[in-house]
Amino acid sequence: MSDYIVLVKQVPDVTQITDNAFNLETGTLIRSRLVSVINELDAQALAFANKMRQDTGDKDAKIICLTMGPPMAEAVLRYGLSRCADTAVLLTDKALSGADTLATANPLAFAIRKIVNEILNEDSDYYVVCGMQSVDGDTAQVPPQIAEELGLPCITYVTGSEYNKGRFEFTRIISGGSQVVSARKMPAVITVAKYEYPLFATFVGARRANRMEIIRWGASDIKATHIGVEGSKTRVIRVFPPGKSIRKCEQVRDAKSLAKALINSFKSGNGEGGKDDVGQAKRYILPDRRVGRFDRSFEGTRKENEDFAILSAKLKELGISEVNQINERAKKEILAAAGEHFHKRALEDMINGLQISELSYKDEVWVVAEHSNNTIHPATFELIGKARELADSLETNVGVCLAGERVEQMAKELISAGADNVYIIEDKLLGVFDPTAHRKVIADAISTYQPQIILYAATPQGRMLAPMVSYRLGCGLTADCTSLDIRDSSRRGQIGILMQTRPALGGNVMATICTKDSRSQMATARPGVMKRLTPDESRRGKVIKYEVQLSDSDVSLEIIKTELGTGEVNFGAEVIVSGGKGMQSRDNYERLVGSLCDCLVTKLNTQVERGASRAAVEQGFIDRVHQVGQTGTAVGSKLYVALGISGAIQHMIGVANTETIVAINSDPHAPIFKQCDYYVVGSVEDTVPQLVQALETE
Ligand SMILES: Cc1cc2nc3c(=O)[nH]c(=O)nc-3n(C[C@H](O)[C@H](O)[C@H](O)COP(=O)(O)OP(=O)(O)OC[C@H]3O[C@@H](n4cnc5c(N)ncnc54)[C@H](O)[C@@H]3O)c2cc1C
Repeated sequence: MSDYIVLVKQVPDVTQITDNAFNLETGTLIRSRLVSVINELDAQALAFANKMRQDTGDKDAKIICLTMGPPMAEAVLRYGLSRCADTAVLLTDKALSGADTLATANPLAFAIRKIVNEILNEDSDYYVVCGMQSVDGDTAQVPPQIAEELGLPCITYVTGSEYNKGRFEFTRIISGGSQVVSARKMPAVITVAKYEYPLFATFVGARRANRMEIIRWGASDIKATHIGVEGSKTRVIRVFPPGKSIRKCEQVRDAKSLAKALINSFKSGNGEGGKDDVGQAKRYILPDRRVGRFDRSFEGTRKENEDFAILSAKLKELGISEVNQINERAKKEILAAAGEHFHKRALEDMINGLQISELSYKDEVWVVAEHSNNTIHPATFELIGKARELADSLETNVGVCLAGERVEQMAKELISAGADNVYIIEDKLLGVFDPTAHRKVIADAISTYQPQIILYAATPQGRMLAPMVSYRLGCGLTADCTSLDIRDSSRRGQIGILMQTRPALGGNVMATICTKDSRSQMATARPGVMKRLTPDESRRGKVIKYEVQLSDSDVSLEIIKTELGTGEVNFGAEVIVSGGKGMQSRDNYERLVGSLCDCLVTKLNTQVERGASRAAVEQGFIDRVHQVGQTGTAVGSKLYVALGISGAIQHMIGVANTETIVAINSDPHAPIFKQCDYYVVGSVEDTVPQLVQALETE
C-alpha cells in the first residue's frame, strides 16, 4: 500500500503585500514585513493525500510532510502534523537559499530519496503529492522537475481521484477539457490544482503536533547536486512594479447607465484592451549593425543603458574611436563625468564589455508545438510570431519542433505562420501526449540541434513539458512570460540574450529574468499575450525528419478517458456574454445569458456568442467548448460581458485581448472589478433582466 510524501511550502500572504514589503533593488522580499502562511494549494494537497489514504483504507500508510525553507518554515510542518501527517522533515540551510526552481527541485528530490531510504525502508510504493504551484513563485515547475530528477511519472493539475481495483485514477485539467489517467508505474508525482475539502486541526491534534519532533536536515545531509544561487540556472535582472492596467474599472450604479456604457463602448470601439502601460520595447539590433561603434543602448536595465550612454558620450567628446585608446587619463575624465552613476570597477567592466560584439548564444529560435486532433493550439502560432521577431533581430531562423503520430501534414500551416524549419518527430507512442515520452524526444532533438532559445506555451501541457525538458538538459527556464526581448548585459560580457519578463508574487511585481550557465534559454509564455502573424501561404520552409527510438517503457501514463468540448462555437463574434459559477444553475444560465444575448443581437445588430468560465462548465451549465480562458479559448471580441465570474487569472488570460469588459457580480470585492472597464455590484438575477429592459428602451 502506498505512502505519501507531501511537499508543503511557507509563503508570504500575497493578499496582504504592502508597498514596503520588498526591496526593489535586489528583488528580494523582506519576509519579516509579511505574514507567512502555508501555500493554499499545498494545504489542499495535504488534504488530498489524506483522502487517498482513507480511500485505500490502509491505516498503516504514512503521510510525511517535507518542506525546504528557513527555520521558521517549521510552522507549516506543524500545520501538517496537527492535521494528518505522521512525520515531518525540514530541509533548512543558508546554502540552499536564493535558489531558482531547478535548485529547489534538486535538493527536494534528494531529500525524497533520503526519506525513502531512511523512513520508508526503501519501499518504492509512494506518491509525492504537491500543490500545483506556490503563490510566491507561480511557476508550477518544481514538481515536474522533481519527477525528472527521480525518473518518476508526473500527473499535473489533478482535481480528483478514485481508488479503483487497487490503483488510483486521477482526473486532471488539460487544454480544452479534462482527462482521467493512472500512473503506469510507481512511485509517482501528482500536483493538485483543486481540492476544496480543507482539513481542520483538532485540539488534541494541535497539542500532539507541538510536541512532535521534526527531522532537520542541512545541505550536507542530502548531497544534492544543484543548490542555492550557485546551482541556479536563472538570474533575476530586475524587479519592478506592474504597469497600471488601463482598463477603466468604472463602477456603474444602475442598469440604465450600464446599458448606455455598453452601447457607447461597442459603437465607438473605444475599449482600451487589457495591455499594461509598459510600452513597446524597441527592436534589438546586433552590436555590429549599430551606427555607433560604442552604441550600447540595448542593455537589460535602464541603469546600464544610462551608464553606457554617459560612457559613449564622453568617448565621443574625447575623440576616442577604439577601446585600446582609453588610457588612464581618459578613464579619470570618464569617471569625473559619471559622478555617482558608476565607479572604477564598473568602468573597467564596461570597457571590457565594449570589446565584445559576438553573440552569447548561437543557432535557431525554436517553438515546441502543441496540438491535438490534428489541430495546432492557437498559442503555438502566437509563439511563432514572437520567435520570428526574436530570430529576425538575431539574424537566425525559426524552428518548430512538432512531435506526435503522423503530424507532418501540419507543417505547412506552421511555415505559413512564420517557421523556417519544422522538425518532425513521429512515432506511434507519441499519438497521445505522454509527458515522459514527449520530453524524451524533444530533449533529444534539442540536444542534437542546440537551438539558442526554446519557447513553449504556458498551457497545462507546456507547463509540464518545459520543466522536464529543461531539467533534463540542465537549462534555465522562466515560467509564464508576458514579454520576451533580446538585450545585452555588456558589463557581464553577454550579448543578445533573452530577457524573460513575468509577473510574480500573485501579480504584485514583475521580474525580468535571464538564463545562466545553460546551452539554451527556455521560457513558457502566456497564451493570448504574444501576437500571431497573418498567415502567409507563399512562405517556404524546410521539413526535417528527426528519428527517435521509443519503447513502451518510455510511456508513463495510462489514459483512461479524455473529455474535450464538442460542437461549434463562434468566438470570432464581436460580442461574447459569459456566465460563471455565480449563475447558480443551468436554468439561470439559459435564461439570463440567453436573454442578454438575444437582446444584444437585436440592439447592436451583430453576432453574439455564449461563453463560460471553467467552473460553470464543470457545473454543467453549458458545454465545454464554450469555456473561455487558459484551458479554454482565448477570445478577442469588441465586448465581453462576464456574469457571475470572479476573475481568476486562468479566466482573465483568455480575455486579455478583448476591447471592453463589463462585469456583473454580487461580491463588491470580486477580483474581476480590478480588471474590467465597467461593473455593477449586484446579483445576476436582478441586474440582467434590468439591463435587458434598459437596452430595449435605450
Ligand atoms: C490549470 C488550470 C487551468 C484553468 N483554466 C481555466 C480556464 O480556461 N477558464 C476558466 O474560466 N477557469 C480556468 N481555471 C479555473 C479558475 O482558476 C477558476 O476556478 C474559475 O475561473 C472560476 O470560475 P468562476 O469565476 O465562474 O467561479 P468562482 O470563482 O466560484 O466565482 C463565482 C463568482 O460568482 C459570484 N456570484 C455568486 N453568486 C452570484 C449572483 N447571484 N450574482 C452575481 N454574482 C454572483 C461570486 O461573487 C464569485 O465572484 C483553471 C484552473 C487551473 C488550475
